[in-house]
Amino acid sequence: MRPEEYAPLSQPLSQRESRFEAPTEVDGAVALLQAEEGARILAGGTDLLVQMRLGAGSPALFVDVKRIPRLMAMTVDASGLTLGAAVPAAEIFENEAIKDLWPGLAEAIYLIGSTQVQGRATVSGNLCNASPGADSVPALIACRAIAVIVGPKGEREVAIEEFTTGPGQTVLERGELVVEFKIPVPAPHASDAYQRLTPRTEMDIAVVGVGVSLELDGDGVVSSARVVLGAVGPKVICAEASAAALVGTRLEDAALEAVAEAASAAATPIDDKRGTAVYRKRVTGVLAKRVARVAYERAKSR
Ligand SMILES: Cc1cc2nc3c(=O)[nH]c(=O)nc-3n(C[C@H](O)[C@H](O)[C@H](O)COP(=O)(O)OP(=O)(O)OC[C@H]3O[C@@H](n4cnc5c(N)ncnc54)[C@H](O)[C@@H]3O)c2cc1C
Repeated sequence: MRPEEYAPLSQPLSQRESRFEAPTEVDGAVALLQAEEGARILAGGTDLLVQMRLGAGSPALFVDVKRIPRLMAMTVDASGLTLGAAVPAAEIFENEAIKDLWPGLAEAIYLIGSTQVQGRATVSGNLCNASPGADSVPALIACRAIAVIVGPKGEREVAIEEFTTGPGQTVLERGELVVEFKIPVPAPHASDAYQRLTPRTEMDIAVVGVGVSLELDGDGVVSSARVVLGAVGPKVICAEASAAALVGTRLEDAALEAVAEAASAAATPIDDKRGTAVYRKRVTGVLAKRVARVAYERAKSR
């Protein structure tokens, strides 16, 4: 739904009419979203309600998805993590199995907002808001996460790197919602990491965010890797040349320089109040090296 389709903001928030529904089944949510053109999914509301306050207008219908059991479930088993779309951030980064198996994902989600925000905010909201600076997205891509989407035509799966099509734009069609994420268990000597740079130490948006995952062979040589960049392009970027520079190495100095150079080259930032494009490209390379080192040490110790 485009902002111009919202109800006008000429009245105070309290006087505008919006319906609120809280279905308890996925099919119920799909039916509501399909029937009402102005419907909007409400997960934690930490983006949606702020955007309304900033003038985006009220949707005709809020569809609160937090009473749907499938969206609130979280399981870790032999196949990996199945993360319900509406599980709040705090429950995810406090989960011991998640911290152990996907520490980079846990640390990315931990960076979202304050304690209050973390009690509400969800990974689906972070992803579907489609901001290039969303902290969980580079980490999800590094972990090879898949979004499970349900809509009027049934269920489909989309890799997170293909989910966002531009700022505020996703592959979701009318009537569709994300119901859960699937993340495979990392190989025995594999791990991940995420770091970001912000002007303030917390409660700020990333100037650059970098997620790295890598897998080692029995000799400590990187056999596969992902390097994923946030906040330095219109959408999150998979820096393939940077990842390729890690493969076949034990992160020797020359390899790390190549990783940094390729990450900087892949970044396509703009100048804004958080930094110039030149600065952000440089920071991208520095962070890519740092995050790769952390992921490598974690992978070695698994
Ligand atoms: C003070 C503050 C600090 C913040 N700090 C950070 C930060 O450091 N890093 C960061 O990345 N973000 C930050 N945010 C932004 C926000 O908290 C996150 O993006 C959060 O993860 C959004 O989740 P939510 O559940 O609240 O989304 P909501 O606001 O409920 O939804 C956001 C969007 O996603 C859609 N949506 C939600 N769930 C689904 C679904 N299952 N299927 C389809 N569409 C869906 C909604 O319709 C809406 O368009 C901050 C916000 C605040 C207010």
